[in-house]
Amino acid sequence: MVTYTVKQYKGIVNKLKYIDSWFWCRYTINPYNGCEHDCIYCDGRSRKYNMHDDFEDTIYVKQGAAAMLDDRIRRSRSMLPDVTTMGGVCDAYQAGEKDYKVTLEILEVLLKHGFPVYLLTKSDLITRDIDVISAINQTAWAAVSFTITTTDPAVARVLEPRASTPSKRLAALKAFKDAHPEIQAGIAYMPIVPFLEDSDESIDQVLGSVKDAGGTFVLFAPGMSLREGQQEYFLARLKAAYPREHDLLVQQFINDESFRKQYITEMNKKLLAACNKLGLDHRMQRYIPNDYRKINYMIAEYLLNKSYDLQITGGAWKSSFWTGQNIQNLKESIVDMNARGELHSIRGMTKAMEAEITPFFPKRSSLDQFLDA
Ligand code: SF4
Repeated sequence: MVTYTVKQYKGIVNKLKYIDSWFWCRYTINPYNGCEHDCIYCDGRSRKYNMHDDFEDTIYVKQGAAAMLDDRIRRSRSMLPDVTTMGGVCDAYQAGEKDYKVTLEILEVLLKHGFPVYLLTKSDLITRDIDVISAINQTAWAAVSFTITTTDPAVARVLEPRASTPSKRLAALKAFKDAHPEIQAGIAYMPIVPFLEDSDESIDQVLGSVKDAGGTFVLFAPGMSLREGQQEYFLARLKAAYPREHDLLVQQFINDESFRKQYITEMNKKLLAACNKLGLDHRMQRYIPNDYRKINYMIAEYLLNKSYDLQITGGAWKSSFWTGQNIQNLKESIVDMNARGELHSIRGMTKAMEAEITPFFPKRSSLDQFLDA
């Protein structure tokens, strides 16, 4: 039985040192501690998060979360508006949100301060907040995605027993796109459980249903993380429902590193081709702030998108990735650095990369060139 307990926490928002290059978020907020969706693959059970043992049955509601966030933003001199995501080790729209409204109140604070938001959920309860999410999109930026890894209700019932069914999530996606086509909305296609959810037929059904619902992007990740704490729970539950797939997963995906590497490379290529065929993006367009970070973020988006494509096609991606991250962490505009001839001082910047990002810089007028001479 699920119980909700209201509890006071010291902090509410976490600032990431490097932005999440998948979801473009800088800040993360968990409105709840614990998640009653009870997904059997949930990474939140990994030891590294130090969550309580009955993570799926005892949920702590963060008391005064919206007021704490409001206070933090008002007092902070360095907290610039940037993408805030809710969830990570909880679903911000698990059933308790219907009564406690912690997520809704946080959204209202983000709207008030002009902060953009990215929301990822497995619940159709999110449609309750369409209006406030749309208002955030108008003043800053908003994007929404639903985790969907299968359209088979029986498989979903085992993997994500207390979340909305895949058909309800797809209906919620359609509701968003019907009401606000301008809001970016799509799916997070992760984790794709090897041998259970990776058939061509399953991929076609998932992508086809996203397309039919009007979704525009698919963030895919074949395979899964299986960290200490998470792995034991997942394998025990998988074995009880799908013993054949369990054994294949252990023998091939977990115990055979070369199989795992080849599997992920081939799946990435297959998923990329399938998205391209249907005209579904495999990346979201990011939030671009209208201050000194503007060109920094545009260049970082270009480099991080490039690094992602290199990564999933087996190319050398790290240099683009880290230079992109360093550029978006600059404390001044890269345009000014370029004008001073200081791009080389950015960590990871090479001559070839300098040439590659030149088109992002505003053209210099002939007067500027005259004054420089
Ligand atoms: S919805 Fe997310 S946080 Fe909640 S149990 Fe599932 S994977 Fe974990």
